[in-house]
Formats: sequence, C-alpha cells, structure tokens
Amino acid sequence: MQVFKFGGASVKDASGVVNLGAIVSAHKDHALLIVVSAMGKTTNLLEQLVRNHVDGSETATHLLEETKHYHHTIIEELFPDKDHPVHNEVANRFVEIEWILEEPPMDPYDYLYDQIVAVGELVSTTIVSHYLQAIGLKSRWLDARDYILTDNTHREGRVDWQVTASRIQAQLPQLLESQLLVTQGFIGSTSENFTTTLGREGSDYSAAIFAACLGAESLTIWKDVPGVLNADPKWFDQTELIPELSYLDAIELTYYGATVIHPKTIKPLQNKNIPLFVKSFIDLENGGTQIKGTHESLPVPSFIFKVNQVLVSILPKDFSFIVEDNLSDIFSRFHAHKIKVNMMHNSAVSFSVSIDDTGSNVDALLGDLQSRYDVHHQNGLELITIRYYNQQTIDRVLVEKEIIMELKDSYTCQLLVRKL
Ligand code: ASP
Ligand code: MG
Repeated sequence: MQVFKFGGASVKDASGVVNLGAIVSAHKDHALLIVVSAMGKTTNLLEQLVRNHVDGSETATHLLEETKHYHHTIIEELFPDKDHPVHNEVANRFVEIEWILEEPPMDPYDYLYDQIVAVGELVSTTIVSHYLQAIGLKSRWLDARDYILTDNTHREGRVDWQVTASRIQAQLPQLLESQLLVTQGFIGSTSENFTTTLGREGSDYSAAIFAACLGAESLTIWKDVPGVLNADPKWFDQTELIPELSYLDAIELTYYGATVIHPKTIKPLQNKNIPLFVKSFIDLENGGTQIKGTHESLPVPSFIFKVNQVLVSILPKDFSFIVEDNLSDIFSRFHAHKIKVNMMHNSAVSFSVSIDDTGSNVDALLGDLQSRYDVHHQNGLELITIRYYNQQTIDRVLVEKEIIMELKDSYTCQLLVRKL
C-alpha cells in the first residue's frame, strides 16, 4: 500500500480538488491512504480567529464567516446539487467553532487553539472524501484522532507510537483492501479524547506516521514545486531539482530550515526504510525527488536562507567563563520561551545564538536573560546555510553582505550576515 499527502496549496480551490481526484484515479489499482491538510490558508485564518476570540474581539465571528464562505464557494462548485450531504456535514463541522465562540474564552490558549484550528482539516477531508466518491472512487473518511494518540502538549502533541501503531495496524490494513481511505494531517487526540495538533505544517509528519505504522511501500508528498530543490526559488533564480536524496541529507536540510518537508517526517520513514517521493501536483510527468536510504551525498550544494534573524550575545556579568552550568541555565530559558536556536557559537566569556525574530517572546526572553547576564542583540540579520559548501558557493551568497558570525564543519557552513 501507499500513502499520499496533499497539502493546503494542492486543495486551495475546486480545481485543486479535481486535480487531486485525477491523481488518485490514476493510482486506483493501489491500496491507498490519503492524508490531507486544511485548504489553502485556512489554518492561518483559524489561528487569527483564536487570537481574536481570546482578545475578546468581534472579528472572530467575521473570520469564521470568511472561512465558511471560502469553503462554501468550493463545495458549490464541486457539488452543484444543494441536497448533497456534503453541505450539511461541512456546516456541522463549523458549528463546533460557533459553540466555542459563544462562550467566554476560559480555557488555556493552546487547548482552545487545537479545538478550533483542527476544524480546517476535518472540513477539507470531508470535502475530498465526498468528491472522490462523486467521481466513482470508493472512499472512506477516517477521523485521524481515532488513530494518532498524543500526550496533552497542545499545539505540539507528542505521539504515543505504541498505541498509535497498534490502533492503525488493528484496523486499517483490512479497510484498505476494499476502499481508499481519506484522513486528516496535523491532528491527533489525547487519551481523554481532546483534540491536539502536531505543530504547524505537521501534515507531512502525520502522513509519515501512517506510512510507518502501515509499513507502506512509499509515501508521496504532492507539492506545488517539482520536488526538493537545492534552494528556495524565492531566494535564488537558478535552482536545481535534486532527483535523489539520502535520509541523512534530508534531515540535515530540514533541520537547518529547508521548508519543503516538515523536519519530523524523515525519521519514522528512515526507521522503516520507506522511500519518500516529493512530486509536483501540477507537472505530473516530472519524476520529482526520491528520498531514501543511500550513502550517496547530494549531487549539488544546497542553500537554505532564513531572514529576520536576531543575534543574541550572552556574557556572564562578572566576566567569568561560560561553563556548563551557565549553558544549561541559558538553554532552559530558551526552552521556557519556546525559542529554537538556529546557530550557536561560544567563546571563553560569551555565548552567541541566532534565533528567529518572532516578536514578543523574543522580547520576553531578552528580559529574562538580562536578569542574570549582560545581553546584546542585533536584529535584521539573515542566516545562510550551505550543505556541501566550497569557496565558490560562499562567494556566491556573500555579494553585498557582511559576515557577522560564521561556522563551518566538513559538510555544512553557516553564515550569519547583514545586508550592506
Ligand atoms: N494545516 C496545517 C498548517 O497549515 C498543517 C499542514 O498544512 O501541514 O500548518
Ligand atoms: Mg499547510
């Protein structure tokens, strides 16, 4: 059997769903489980809705209307018959948000977030599953929350692999014999049946969980790019498609910030030696990228760009050395503010890191660190990571840039730079 994952961009409008139908039809001889994200920018809209609800703003209701309207436009185009059950089912999914908005926001933010934002995936899969049936494919909608068990870390649920695997293995292989299965990415549930989410862009990870637990032949992630490129076309005009990539290089690239696949996707696949295909849902003839167990290194150097970086330099107030106990104290403060370090460097008396400028939690972190250390920071920087670098690739990215901090190992070079 195979697992296909379709992201929000692939189902952003009615023609996207039609295209998904064509891709799935072309593979209908395979046992197939399909994992789908929320449509288009729905997750961003619902995130905004949660924020407004918690702030007590009326806009929350408007955003809900906007989200409903967006989905209604899609279903009206796909199912012109007003009596088709999809209309009611989708309306019912949104009722869950209406109920939440009727009450004052008493629950913790992250909990509320998961209950509201998950509706995006519940709706998209309802539409996709009905559409597949309408074009004559036997398909069944599954609630991913019946299978993916997480702890109760809302917005970043940690998967209980043992229970998840046993639930999936107990039921899905048999169901797959007679029909396509359609389920949600991104969501799971706690042992008390509260909805959780797995972190933004987590649908790739969901697809990898299902693929690993089912021992799938392969996982295919259908994207709006031809596959894994050696740089994001947003930053580079001459990008190259990487036809084959090792699990190790894929993990390294996503760790340093390549956004083509979610960083957590690779490990479950690598553990079961399941190949991952990244393919274009637009250009179906293009072979895309295959990620697999190989010792071959990347055929071309790869570039990862992260803008909006803040360099934070931390020095003990009494000019003493940076030693293990400072480091563990510093890291626990980063952890408490949920801030991920993108690059780090230490000298005898200072410790410097580059982090994403995410606004208020960075300010809170700086305030917290200042209670114990001398802290300096610089905003507006750019972090460039080159995997399989050489001098020529370094020169290429340094045009009109000044290096603020530089780190190199045998394969990877990180340059924190400022535009001149
Ligand atoms: N819909 C979720 C998000 O946009 C999950 C995903 O797309 O992978 O973050
Ligand atoms: Mg998405």
